[in-house]
Amino acid sequence: CGIIGIVGKEEVADRLVDGLRRMEYRGYDSAGVCTIEGGELIRRRAPGKLNNLVKELVVNPAPGLTGIAHTRWATHGAPTAANAHPHATDVLALVHNGIIENFRPLREALEAKGRVFESQTDTEVVAHLISDKVEGGMDPIAAVKASLPELRGAFALAIAFRQFPDMLVGARLGSPLVLGFGEGETYLGSDALALAPLTQRICYLEEGDWVIVRRDGAEIFDKDNNPVKRPVVASGASA
Ligand code: GLU
Repeated sequence: CGIIGIVGKEEVADRLVDGLRRMEYRGYDSAGVCTIEGGELIRRRAPGKLNNLVKELVVNPAPGLTGIAHTRWATHGAPTAANAHPHATDVLALVHNGIIENFRPLREALEAKGRVFESQTDTEVVAHLISDKVEGGMDPIAAVKASLPELRGAFALAIAFRQFPDMLVGARLGSPLVLGFGEGETYLGSDALALAPLTQRICYLEEGDWVIVRRDGAEIFDKDNNPVKRPVVASGASA
């Protein structure tokens, strides 16, 4: 339902939670964050109100300069901690807005290859689809590029790779996703409002776009994988 991602120069966990708070008005049933620190994905999730996640983060902090976060409005799978986003493998963690219509056949094919799922969500299939390609030898960007055409339905995605702490990858089709540009930091959000305290410099991704997000900027590609430029606009939203 709500997505925020930061490739930052300072700790991100508190700012990710702030971004989620700004999207609470959309409604949600659970929330989670994942940061990358010391070669590990550090994932914290909680059902119910955002304060449950905040309490979890007090006990088990999520350090790191890069991270993603999500408020979930369940479409497939009950609103439990195990179904909350981010969904993760040894390779990556990701958050998703929307519905993957063809998750069943994809999941069956991946399970037949021995991949073990931990949730009832449609989303988790995307995590395994990309991870399977990375474990087969593709680099993360090639794996995302090869996976997107296999997905049917609607999605906005933000993906963090365990071994690439200075990068996020985003993609959108049928669900909104925006980029935000800061000073030595770059952001992803499902909503310009979520990024308002961080930056007013916003770029709306177009249908089928995917993006490599780095601290010093972003490279956008269209649905045919051609590099494209999208206008940077002032969000106009006040912090
Ligand atoms: N379909 C996904 C799920 O049920 C994402 C829902 C959302 O947009 O929050 O987990």
